[in-house]
Amino acid sequence: MTHPTIERARERVITQALPADRSLLAELARLPAESVPDLLALADDVRALHCGNGIAVEVLYNAKRGGCSEDCHFCSQSARYATDVEPDVLSGVDGFVDAARRAHARGASEFCVVVAVRGPSAKLLDRVCEATRAIKSELPLTVAVSLGILRDDQFPPLVAAGVDKVNHNLETSRRYFPAVCSTHSYDERWQTCTLVKQHGLDLCCGGIIGMGETVEDRIDFLTALQELDPQEVPINFLNPRPGTPYQDRSLVEPVEALRFVALARLALPKAMVRFAGGREITLQGLQDLGMRSGASGIVLGNYLTTSGRGDADDFAMLDRLGFEVMA
Ligand code: SF4
Repeated sequence: MTHPTIERARERVITQALPADRSLLAELARLPAESVPDLLALADDVRALHCGNGIAVEVLYNAKRGGCSEDCHFCSQSARYATDVEPDVLSGVDGFVDAARRAHARGASEFCVVVAVRGPSAKLLDRVCEATRAIKSELPLTVAVSLGILRDDQFPPLVAAGVDKVNHNLETSRRYFPAVCSTHSYDERWQTCTLVKQHGLDLCCGGIIGMGETVEDRIDFLTALQELDPQEVPINFLNPRPGTPYQDRSLVEPVEALRFVALARLALPKAMVRFAGGREITLQGLQDLGMRSGASGIVLGNYLTTSGRGDADDFAMLDRLGFEVMA
């Protein structure tokens, strides 16, 4: 028999077309593990209702690797940790365009430029804008950028260059954020996210599960996302990187990883919930189930500093599950 809380969630999110609110999310977060399959099925129904079967495939491009001034404890690109990431200089425009061509050839419709910085210098911003113009003139890709903390005056050039979307993750709850990073604040992240929307760009904002946060933090994180109302919510699972403060953290239990994807879908029924980094190591052979838990997008490996599985496996999975890759 379906758990009554799931019945209530179905009534609210499907029949009434309302997002799950905080109290409902908290109840769903504490459902016994045996009810999780029903929760995933509900989230998959909500995904089908609002997003159909189209799956947005994205490839990330690390245009400036490592050497970052910040101390995000999960990140092997921080200059503060002795990790296996070799810092590299900012790519030239040709490097961006070549990477975009490869992403397109791999079947991606979205290309996300990522740089490991606190925020972009004038030179970096100019380079990203020039590269975006070059990419948009040649390829039918949605271009997203992940440039760290952005000021108000840095948005008009991005808009003019044709950037479609800005990624800036909250990562976790406001309460837990200081345990994740001490060199910038949750409020700085929040401010960048609100500026993205004020400038009319799509906002991509999500985070990482498994950094030591509580169930309550996960609910707070989701309700904060509801407030920001991003177009896209990337969900990553901590892949503990050697040399970082989180190197000894345990992987998220698969059932909790799947549950979180489903909760994100119920909290943000119309958003693109993207199944992102750490999915392979966390879910192993349960990738299919992950895609049937409410996700409507996927990032192909690699994920900046970690690899994923091969594209053929991911495309075969999408095909097997009856999804259509969006052009
Ligand atoms: S997550 Fe971004 S800001 Fe934080 S250390 Fe890594 S590259 Fe720097």
